[in-house]
Amino acid sequence: MREKIEKLNAEFKHLDAKSSLEHFLKVYRGKIALSSSFGAEDQVLSDMILKIDSDARIFTLDTGRLPQQTYDVMDRTNLKYKTKIRAYFPESRDIEKLYYKQGANGFYDSLENRKECCYVRKIAPLKRALNGVEVWITGLRAEQSQTREEMQMLEWDESNGVIKLNPLILWKESDVWSYIRENGVPYNALHDEGYPSIGCEPCTRATDVGADIRSGRWWWENPEHKECGLHIKETN
Ligand code: SF4
Repeated sequence: MREKIEKLNAEFKHLDAKSSLEHFLKVYRGKIALSSSFGAEDQVLSDMILKIDSDARIFTLDTGRLPQQTYDVMDRTNLKYKTKIRAYFPESRDIEKLYYKQGANGFYDSLENRKECCYVRKIAPLKRALNGVEVWITGLRAEQSQTREEMQMLEWDESNGVIKLNPLILWKESDVWSYIRENGVPYNALHDEGYPSIGCEPCTRATDVGADIRSGRWWWENPEHKECGLHIKETN
């Protein structure tokens, strides 16, 4: 698989985001999906994808701890594009066990607790959402954090057994906002309140101007831990 990914990268790394989406949405029709957290990058991709194929599959992971503003943009997106982005939830029994073990806000107490919460609320539902999917489209950008700077347009995701397509991997933040403005794309109101990256409400906060884009996520942890496990880079 490593060779196949290297070949795909050599072939497609010069394509712009729209062209790469057109290609993969056509070749992998019915087996390709975007996971959206309704952040700025995912909104750009939803706009591009739904303009190419209005039946394309887009899903979100509703952790149960999202900010109200994320639900607002979810509804506005469905309305604007006349679509129904499918939401995947954690299993209720897993949440009950999590509360019993670490309490409602145990993720603040240790890295282990935080990773367990992210696993129950995000990773396990993602595995269900990716069932039958061969290409997983993401809104990752290399400049977002030190954990993402070596990522390429195409990657192999060993833990989910899918090809990851990152059409915006070389985009700058200014590219994202230019696209949003030029195309009238709905976006999360928290971006206007100093939140460059938005996840669960208790684990996200606003950042200072010029600060690392993901510094408001799990701000109490070291930078190298600032991933929920959805996008850990495979080394083999
Ligand atoms: S971001 Fe926070 S609340 Fe959300 S799943 Fe991870 S630890 Fe839990």
